Amino acid sequence: SPTIGVLALQGDVAEHTHMLGDLGARTSRVLSADQLDTVDGLVIPGGESTTMSKLAVRYDLMKPLRERVADGMPVYGTCAGMIMLADRVLGATTDQETVGGIDMTVRRNAFGRQTESFETGVRIDGIGNDPFDAVFIRAPWVESVGSEVSVLGSVSGPDEAGRIVAVRQGGLMATSFHPELTGDTRIHRLFVDIVKGLA
Ligand code: GLN
Repeated sequence: SPTIGVLALQGDVAEHTHMLGDLGARTSRVLSADQLDTVDGLVIPGGESTTMSKLAVRYDLMKPLRERVADGMPVYGTCAGMIMLADRVLGATTDQETVGGIDMTVRRNAFGRQTESFETGVRIDGIGNDPFDAVFIRAPWVESVGSEVSVLGSVSGPDEAGRIVAVRQGGLMATSFHPELTGDTRIHRLFVDIVKGLA
């Protein structure tokens, strides 16, 4: 089975590690370029994206991350991790460096203006018809995507109807919400299949 790294600079690393382990994937914490070299895929967890970005620079990981992404390594980003995978970020207080790779513009803390956190059912392409119980915590949304990006899910609630919250571009996948905080392993399973070259 493939080894899936979890970028461990900051954020909810343990939750992702547990969920991937439950799915039978080998996991490892990634805190250096050497460790990054050993993984077949990577999860970038939720947390605080400006902090994560600064730490990635400080740990000399930003360039290696961009190189692996350019090389085709599958990466799944949740929330702050989604922001890290975005080519363009709105609502950043300072110039915010990202790894990039997904041709999308995300808006930080977009839902947070209305409410800090909430849960809602979201239909996600590729994991079956049952809505996913999506947990949003000061979440970004995807403001716009390029032509190579597949939209996997949007919120259908009355307030923010149509906002994109799950996307995929090749081996790169991102969600605004936190599947690792639920008992539902379907999205992680999809990512493991992407890493295995099955999806
Ligand atoms: N608001 C955070 C940020 O902009 C993301 C929050 C999260 O990952 N739960 O980085």
